[in-house]
Amino acid sequence: MSGRNGTGISADEEVAGRFPRARPLVLAATSGTGKTTIARRLVDGSDRYVFSISATTRPARPGERDGVDYHFLDEDDFERRIEAGEFVEWARVHDRLYGTPLSEIESEAHRGRHVVLDIDVQGARQIKKAIPDAVLIFVLPPSVDIMMVRLKRRGTEAPENIARRLLSALDELKAVPDFDYVVVNDDLDECLAEIRLIMEEGQEPAAPEMDAEDLRAEIARILDSEYGPYVQDER
Ligand code: 5GP
Repeated sequence: MSGRNGTGISADEEVAGRFPRARPLVLAATSGTGKTTIARRLVDGSDRYVFSISATTRPARPGERDGVDYHFLDEDDFERRIEAGEFVEWARVHDRLYGTPLSEIESEAHRGRHVVLDIDVQGARQIKKAIPDAVLIFVLPPSVDIMMVRLKRRGTEAPENIARRLLSALDELKAVPDFDYVVVNDDLDECLAEIRLIMEEGQEPAAPEMDAEDLRAEIARILDSEYGPYVQDER
């Protein structure tokens, strides 16, 4: 089997591998794009994809389990692990610390599987630097209207939270040029198929009808027209 020379796995292991070499997959998206659903669908019942379990200092939400959803750590413990070089990347997101333990990437148990990282764009950039062979995929919503419907459907969202998520989206979308691929989550199954083809065959997905810059312009327009009072201080 040929394959790019890269980090992590030796030529011997590559030749011995029964399938194309596994590479870390970083998924990023703006909120309301379905990133978490996509990641779950890739991993659930699969022997080809496995989740990287991040560490975080945010408290567990109801139903979340330590060591399953996240490794929940206090700030001191997290800081100590940063000092000890235990994270391949880490970032402060919404005022909490989040990081990918190196052990999640290197785990023997994960050998031969794509480790799926559901992390923010700062983390994605760091991963690409640390592991150039990682595949960075940015998931876009099919339209700003659909993104807004999905955002509001979370139910719990007060307008100021929606405004905050839209502001984050404006920022996150600036990172799209740093990503290897952009896919659109219009139909979930098609989106998953595109991601699998990228991972297994390096196949380019269909070009999005609306690119990241168009989406940013639309989001900025909605922020101005509908959420003006909530964003005045933040922009
Ligand atoms: P939540 O607290 O809602 O689970 O996640 C909040 C944000 O933190 C999401 O954008 C998520 O992708 C990001 N995140 C989760 N784990 C990590 C991580 O290990 N590293 C980085 N950089 N971001 C993460």
